[in-house]
Order: sequence, then structure tokens, then C-alpha cells
Amino acid sequence: MKLSSKSKEYNIPEYSLTGDLLSFLTCNLQYRYQNKGSLPPSRPLQLWFGEFIHGVMEEAYTEWKLKKTQFPWDWLRDIRSIEEKIDQRMQARGLYPPNPKYFTPYKTVGENEHGENPLKRIISTRIEKSINLWGKHLFPLMDSSEVLIKGLRKMPLKDKINRRSDFYCVNGVIDVISSLKINSPISKKNLIVEYLKKENFYKREYLNSDEEYEIIIDYKGMKRPQHDPKTLEHQSTWNYHEWQILTYSWLRCKQTNLKPIISGIIFYLNELLPSNEDLLVIKGDIENGKTDVKISKEDRELINDWNGNEKNFPNLSDSFKLDRSIRIIEINKKKVDKALKEFDNVVNNIEKSTVNESKGSSIKGSWKADGDKRTCDACDFRNFCNKHSDDHPQFLKIP
Ligand code: SF4
Repeated sequence: MKLSSKSKEYNIPEYSLTGDLLSFLTCNLQYRYQNKGSLPPSRPLQLWFGEFIHGVMEEAYTEWKLKKTQFPWDWLRDIRSIEEKIDQRMQARGLYPPNPKYFTPYKTVGENEHGENPLKRIISTRIEKSINLWGKHLFPLMDSSEVLIKGLRKMPLKDKINRRSDFYCVNGVIDVISSLKINSPISKKNLIVEYLKKENFYKREYLNSDEEYEIIIDYKGMKRPQHDPKTLEHQSTWNYHEWQILTYSWLRCKQTNLKPIISGIIFYLNELLPSNEDLLVIKGDIENGKTDVKISKEDRELINDWNGNEKNFPNLSDSFKLDRSIRIIEINKKKVDKALKEFDNVVNNIEKSTVNESKGSSIKGSWKADGDKRTCDACDFRNFCNKHSDDHPQFLKIP
């Protein structure tokens, strides 16, 4: 009897929307070192905060469902124990808060520098605001959180000889899935619904007041990205975030028993309490017209008069912070198809770089060093990255 031989191993490359595709778009070379070279960043403040805020918001929702604690939540009584629980879980995985200036870790006693609670730092105040300003409106609309979604797409790489597979898998985790019925009592007096109304969401003629719809929600531990409504720059973080939400909606549609998905919302949580550095960039965006958010005369004056010094941090209005922290994204087939094409292109570029490197080309020859200034300034690889040393000659340049 002839024994059949074991068939060749067949692997389908798997790409995470945030961990791979958005990361590659931030800087190709940094992505290569961090993700494919398994070199974790040494000072991952944004990464740590992103993961921390997701954990805290999920846990806060679970507690609210169980206890229905009235808002506003008191930081020490209702929130600190959640922070400690999430911090403990992250520390067990080796993820420590990067700087005690921003967050007091579990079981640490901080200094009482502001005469306030000794443990409370900027991240805790930001979390308190996220829960009391948005959580209060979001939790009653929530259906589920941390929903894993996956789907297969045709491999875009045309080079059939070198391509690793005929398909690739794309995955992601949706932070929150919300349900909305146009005339339900919960929708009344809900700030998120008010923002949807402002965006003419309710005027869409295909909406039916008896049907329930789904909304995809994503939290981002960062400021609102720059957006110039005049130039509509294609390669921009603004667009990348929209493509992410649209791709989530395509993946979500593949699951069964679904309500129609009609909108996406991104919460840029740093806007609720920007750091000094964030506010300097926000000031630049406003002065250069690179923002889509309208600003009141009073807030504009406060921003214009601010000299960038932490001690004179302006007291901006809550509506300024709320307007800048919420972004509503319409979901329709045309936009979804476009987003999928964009991400196919990204996969194509990652695959091309991977093939080039596997055929002997150098890492720097295969992956483009294309981070922007803010990314480069915080990058662990800047000491030997040629792009950064070209811009900053004090750094060592390695050929
Ligand atoms: S220094 Fe800038 S260009 Fe170089 S790898 Fe880092 S992010 Fe990319």
C-alpha cells in the first residue's frame, strides 16, 4: 500500500487591524522592529494607556450593569478599585505604568503634590471624566464589549510565485457594540444621541423608527487627529481611523443575527483632559485650520493667549472637550468597499516588504522609515534610524 505523504504546510497570514495595519501605516520600519522583530517599545505610554483605558471602561460597564451606581462616580469610592484591578492584571503580564508622574500604580503611595488625593494623577482624572462624561450616556446603550471579529480576504499580492498564500485573515476587537432604537425612552436625553442628531444621522431616509440599529464604538487613548477639511489629505491618521471602523463593520456583518450597522463612533479620550504636550498640538491644529471641530470665541481666545506653559494651562469649556472627543462616522457600502481596498493595499505593501527581506534585502532596504516627527521623537529605534539621524545629526548614522 502506498502511503500518502504529508501535504505541505499552508499558513494564512493573519493581520490585526490595529496591531499590524495601523501600526505599519504609522511607520513601516518601526512596525518591522516592533512586530516582526518582537522588540517591544521600552516606553510605551500610549500603548499602556490604550490598553489600560480599555480595561477600565469594560470593567466599569460590568460594575454599572451589576450595581447600577448613579453618576457621577466618585473617583476614590467607585473608580480607584477598578483602576487597581486592571493595573494588577496588566502588571501580571509585565506591563507596568510607564511613569508615576501620570499614574500611581497599584499599592503605591504617591506624594500629595496638589493637596488633592495623593494617588490621583492625570490618567486617573482622565478616566474619571471618561466615565462621568461619556460612560453615563454610553453604558445604557451598550450591548456587548470586546467583541472579537475575523474574516478572510483574497491576498492582494499579484506576484503568485512569491506570495505566501492566496488569502489573508484580518482580525480586530470591537470595543463596544451599542443598540439604538430611534424612539426608545433611553434615546431621550442621551448626549450621544444628541451628537448623532447634530450629524443629521436621524434625517437619513432609510431609518425606520421601529427597527433597532447597531453602532460600533472605539475608544482611543489619544487626542483627536489633525484633519484639514480643505485638503482632505489621503494618508492621514484621520482617514486610517475611519477605515478601521468601516472594516470592523464589514467583519461584524459576517456574523449572524445582526441588526443593521449604521454608524461608528470614536472617542478620543485624551481630549477630555489633554496633557500639556497634547494641548500644544491642539493649539497648532486650531491655529492652522487643521481641525473639523467648531470652537467658541471664548475657547479660541483662551487657546490663543496660552503661552504653552503648564502652569498657565487654560480652563477650556466642557463643550470644547466633548465636541473634540467624539467623532461620528457614517457607515455605508461605498465607504466600506473603499476602506477594504485601502487595507488590501496596506497588506500588499507589508507582504512585498516581507518577501524582499526574505530574499536577502536588508531590513532598512525593505521597510520604509516614514514616521512623522511626534512618532520619531518617541521611537526607540531613532538612534540608528537614518531618517531620524538625517533630521537630527547628533544621532549616530548607520549605513
Ligand atoms: S525613528 Fe521615526 S522613521 Fe525611524 S523607525 Fe522610528 S518612527 Fe520610523
